[in-house]
Amino acid sequence: MQTACRILQFIRTALTDMVWPRCCPACGRTLTQREACLCISCIYRLPRTQLHQSDFNELHHKLGSHTRIDKAMAWFWYYRGNDLTSIIIDAKYHDTPRLIRDAAAEYVGELTDEGCNPASFADLTVPVPMHWSKRIARGYNQAEWIADGIRRACGLPIAHCLEATRRHRTQTRLSAVERRKNLQGSISLRRPDIVAGRRILLVDDIITTGATMIAAVEALAQGNPASISILTLGAAKKI
Ligand SMILES: [Zn+2]
Repeated sequence: MQTACRILQFIRTALTDMVWPRCCPACGRTLTQREACLCISCIYRLPRTQLHQSDFNELHHKLGSHTRIDKAMAWFWYYRGNDLTSIIIDAKYHDTPRLIRDAAAEYVGELTDEGCNPASFADLTVPVPMHWSKRIARGYNQAEWIADGIRRACGLPIAHCLEATRRHRTQTRLSAVERRKNLQGSISLRRPDIVAGRRILLVDDIITTGATMIAAVEALAQGNPASISILTLGAAKKI
């Protein structure tokens, strides 16, 4: 059944590409059927983190949460001046969430090739929630599109069990400590029964200071999951 769906999807993409050719958003080259988010040469140029290869890495260190984080991984480093990574992260501002979803699926493909398929260490994907007022303004939550990309690539089911209970003030001018204080208690666990005893993969588009991710991790921990891992597309880095 799954194979038949893949074949149908392949044919549909091929036909759509014939009528409306897709272009790489970074270099403008026409994408082939097998290229989903960026062309293969742009994908190759992404500054990969390879964080999945380490049991305790920069993200564990940055988050420094009270709750133990099992695996922590991000596809690429995100820094000022790198146009390629900005195209993926900024897609949420340009109303192109499909790019984010396809990037997540691409990342999972790479992880699988390197023996780190998310389905081998997680039972459920949980998107970091967005406050309802922000969601209405944007029209979607990019973390949910990432979870969908992961589901398409490795079949992990999605659980919408976290809720952003209050909209925090803008964080751009706050220090890392102020951001954590600003976000404390801003996310709550709506369905503890879903996460109890399960291995959770918490997903978002980017980690900057990690304040949002920590708030989500602490909320998830209230449900006594077997483990919590985190996955993002970008991880901010100062260079
Ligand atoms: Zn390209």
